[in-house]
Amino acid sequence: MLRKIVCVILLAQAGCSDSLAQWSKFSGSTMGTVYHITAECPSGKLQQADIARELDWVNNVMSTYIHDSTLSRFNRSGIGSWMTVEAELLQVIEVALELSQSSGGAYDITVGPLVNLWGFGAQSNGAGNPPSKRQISQAMESVGYTSIKTRLQPPELLKQINLYLDLSSIAKGYGVDRVAELLSRYQCENYLVDIGGEVRTRGFSPKTRSWRIGIEVPEAESFGAINRIIELPDVAVATSGDYRNFLEWDGTSYSHIIDPRTGYPVTHNLASVTVLHPSAMKADALATLLTVLGPDEGWQYAQKYKLAVLFVWRTNSGFEQRHTQSFAPYLVD
Ligand code: ADP
Ligand code: MG
Repeated sequence: MLRKIVCVILLAQAGCSDSLAQWSKFSGSTMGTVYHITAECPSGKLQQADIARELDWVNNVMSTYIHDSTLSRFNRSGIGSWMTVEAELLQVIEVALELSQSSGGAYDITVGPLVNLWGFGAQSNGAGNPPSKRQISQAMESVGYTSIKTRLQPPELLKQINLYLDLSSIAKGYGVDRVAELLSRYQCENYLVDIGGEVRTRGFSPKTRSWRIGIEVPEAESFGAINRIIELPDVAVATSGDYRNFLEWDGTSYSHIIDPRTGYPVTHNLASVTVLHPSAMKADALATLLTVLGPDEGWQYAQKYKLAVLFVWRTNSGFEQRHTQSFAPYLVD
């Protein structure tokens, strides 16, 4: 009986394609973080293993932490020869390259040697000090998105210099899109997919209203405290910030987001950037891109590309925030 009532309510609001649909939750770990999925799907069809398989696939192609992933093999490969890769990897790299171009190299997946040097990468050795100027300029010789060449048929990649690609800024978002598409293929009408805070939703929550999520106060000590609540109708959201993942040396903290143009972690007062976009992959990458560009350049970029973004920055008297016009309809409070 209860099932029927829920179904009628959903029918009124979102359509109820399958009277045998049921809500399930799936969770696990992937890409160095955890995922949580809540979905209403035709009963019994979608299994945890289906989701795990999808995410393992992404990891086995795009992770720098897996020795035999396609990305790791490309990173070890020699200069100047084409390597055949999965079409999906090429597609993600093409998006990343477009974002590099549009941001003048602020966003750059060839930043890997710097990420490793600053202690945030798969090949970081846990050094006790910040790197020296000489080490930084040496690493920068192996950074530059214009040195990746791509061709589509067959899908192939080539490095013109000794590149090391790092897809950490985009792979979680891509994984969210893959799982969302998997859920749609399984005819799940309503769902929320969350991989490490990169989220995409469809339809309604079990409370039969639009999905709502909280955006955190961007400081380590306020872990979990909510700054703003947004409502997400069929859209993805990603937040980038320096308040979770940073290193401290002699009382100075260093962000895991590095400006490839200077070789140094970003230092401006922007504490977090939240981006809404139909594609979780793009939301993820754009949040990183805007963080590198910072409060002024980043704001101009968001305006130019009409992005739905929320910026939160630090001042002497606490946090301040502003959002673009297209972000406003999503805010609940
Ligand atoms: P956030 O959610 O804070 O953006 P992500 O995990 O999405 O964090 O991306 C940050 C990661 O991206 C870093 O840990 C690093 O591996 C990589 N990265 C750092 N700087 C850049 C950059 N300028 N362009 C692209 N990727 C970067
Ligand atoms: Mg990101």
